[in-house]
Amino acid sequence: MTQYSMDQLTAFCKRKGFVFPSSEIYGGLQAIYDYGHYGVLLKNNIRDAWWKHMVQLRDDVLALDSAIFMHPQTWVASGHVASFDDPQVDCRDCKNRMRADHVLEGHGISADKASLEFVNQELDKLRAETKLRCSACGSQNITPARRFSLMVKSNIGSPTEALCEENVVYLRPETCGGIYLEYKNTLNTLNPKLPFGIAQVGKAFRNEIVAKQFIFRTREFEQMEMQYFLRPQEMAATYEMWKEIRWQWYLQFGIQPERLRWYKHEKLAHYASAAYDVEYDFKFLGGFKEIEGIHARGDWDLSQHGKHSGVDLSYQDPQSKEKLVPHIMETSVGLGRLFLMFLDHAYTEETITNAKGESETRIVLKLHRDLAPVKVAVFPLLKNKPALVEKARAIYSALRPYFACEFDDNGNVGKRYRRQDEIGTPYCVTIDFDTLTDDTVTIRDRDTMAQVRMKAAELRGYFRGQIEN
Ligand code: ATP
Repeated sequence: MTQYSMDQLTAFCKRKGFVFPSSEIYGGLQAIYDYGHYGVLLKNNIRDAWWKHMVQLRDDVLALDSAIFMHPQTWVASGHVASFDDPQVDCRDCKNRMRADHVLEGHGISADKASLEFVNQELDKLRAETKLRCSACGSQNITPARRFSLMVKSNIGSPTEALCEENVVYLRPETCGGIYLEYKNTLNTLNPKLPFGIAQVGKAFRNEIVAKQFIFRTREFEQMEMQYFLRPQEMAATYEMWKEIRWQWYLQFGIQPERLRWYKHEKLAHYASAAYDVEYDFKFLGGFKEIEGIHARGDWDLSQHGKHSGVDLSYQDPQSKEKLVPHIMETSVGLGRLFLMFLDHAYTEETITNAKGESETRIVLKLHRDLAPVKVAVFPLLKNKPALVEKARAIYSALRPYFACEFDDNGNVGKRYRRQDEIGTPYCVTIDFDTLTDDTVTIRDRDTMAQVRMKAAELRGYFRGQIEN
């Protein structure tokens, strides 16, 4: 049975140019990562697949790209300044910092949205039973839990010598704040009728208490959120509809249903009527973890912003003239978490027999074709035969306006296949001496490794039938 560790995936992502630790030449910066060439291509494809389903294919969802900085009052109104925090404990011996609610969860105690008092009571019980230990060094010398604000502060418009409280702005902790603030402009300019949604993709920042989870939990990350505005009586049915839409999206991109499950939040915020998370069973993280949240938020957000700004954020029905503050249902997912989920799903190690009859391990990313960073790799059989290289270049140039392609003439064909398997390229096209006489090429399939012969002129039509994005 293969053992998987996050360190293994982290090393793979770096070796293949997917994800790099940030600021590495200065020793790195905890929980911040950069995406390299193939990482950007994969991340953009995941983002586009979400966008297509959430906006392009729908009549009722509109687009937004709001700024990261917003008026600081935004986060006072939403409650983030006062209470967006996690309980933290520190190991006095090795200085390891842990989320106290996660420590409790590790002992089967649910501390979801629990008070600090409850968390400390439960920690004390574990301490008394000598079960409270540091996850890094095993020490029992653990501090009581404290609140740790997740808000990241910045200053704008300040002279250097006056970086003071009054100029504080926050880097948004979630992208939906911008959607609430632009709800009125969207309504006034585009006149959508209830129910309708506003979607956006963008950066969010949280001062996370870090556990070693690679890009699962980072301090700077991208969220893809959709806020759906509706009448309260529409909530129950709409909520079920979006749960089903989002579930099907995962299946469409190849995630097996047995590796997905719903987690129902039992403790809800006072304004919420339902909150479910989609959880995915990570082989690299050792079990089910949250990927996406789907929440029925009542009229809390618009009411709060209406109250704090003094601006009327109600909606008037054009026919009945009924006025109401719309209720909101949201879907919220981290792009980096989806990236990690798709890698976790796709990463496969197989034992195969190579051309010399020896067995070897093949690493292959079995990504859904539409998500693969490169769709088609084109090879000349031999690098030192100008006629083959010229023909291969011509085929590559004809395909690349339509599909993400890569030209590769390094090493032998077997090595090139391995390289493309590792980045998840679904098709490799090899140009050989027969191509020069009958214009046929070999197409090799990533998953089955089967090879078929086809006319070069038919390649575009063939790939168009296989790849949507
Ligand atoms: P968690 O319980 O894991 O801290 P959360 O419940 O606070 O997450 P939400 O505020 O509901 O998360 O955010 C919605 C989604 O945004 C999450 O399901 C996740 O995919 C993503 N997300 C939240 N925080 C982070 C983070 N620090 N790094 C990466 N993605 C994140």
